[in-house]
Amino acid sequence: MNKICVFAGSNAGVSPEYGQAATELGQLMAAKGIELVYGGSRIGLMGLVADAVLANGGRVTGVMPRGLFIGEMAHKGLTEFIEVGNMHERKALMSELSDGYIALPGGLGTFEELFEVASWAQLGIHKKPVGILNVKGFYQPIADMLNHAVSAGFMRDTNLGLMLFEANAAVLLDQMAAYTAPEQANKWAELPK
Ligand code: AMP
Repeated sequence: MNKICVFAGSNAGVSPEYGQAATELGQLMAAKGIELVYGGSRIGLMGLVADAVLANGGRVTGVMPRGLFIGEMAHKGLTEFIEVGNMHERKALMSELSDGYIALPGGLGTFEELFEVASWAQLGIHKKPVGILNVKGFYQPIADMLNHAVSAGFMRDTNLGLMLFEANAAVLLDQMAAYTAPEQANKWAELPK
C-alpha cells in the first residue's frame, strides 16, 4: 500500500487517547513510507494525523472543497493541497488517490465517508481494505449496529469482513497490507447468490 486515505474527526474528542492514536497512526504511516490522503484540515484528529506524518518525513495530500470550510481550517504545510468543487468531488478524488481507507474516531462527516467506502466495497466498486481504528472501543456501537443489521436480515454476514475493526494501529496496517477482498456475493437476499 502506497497511499491511505484517513477519515477522522475535525474535533479532537474528549480523551487524549484519540489524539494519541491519530499521532501514532501518522508516525507509523511515515515510517512505512505510506502517504496520507485526507480532507486537508489542520484541526482535530485530522490535523494531528497530518502533522505526525509530516513531522516524520512523510507525504500528505489534502483534498478540500473550495469555499465550504473557513479558510483558517486549511492545513498550510501539506505536501500537496488540492481544491475541488464540492464534497462529492472530494470523496471521489480521495478514493481514487488511495489504496485503502482508515477511519479514526470522528462524527457525522467521518461516519459518512466510512460508510460510503464500505458500501462501495460491498458493491464491488473497489477491492481496497477499509480499516477502522477502534480506539478506546469508540467504534463498538457501530460494530454492534452492523451485527444487528445482519440479524435483522439487511446485510450478509460475509460483508462484515469488508471492514477491519482493530484497536492497534500497527496491527491494522499489517492486516490492511495482507487484505484480499472476499469473493463478491450478491448482497440481495431475494436474488440468486
Ligand atoms: P466530522 O467527523 O464530522 O468531524 O467530519 C470529519 C470528516 O469530514 C473528515 O474526514 C473530512 O473529510 C470532513 N470534514 C469535516 N470538517 C472538516 C473541516 N473543517 N475541514 C476539512 N474537512 C472536514
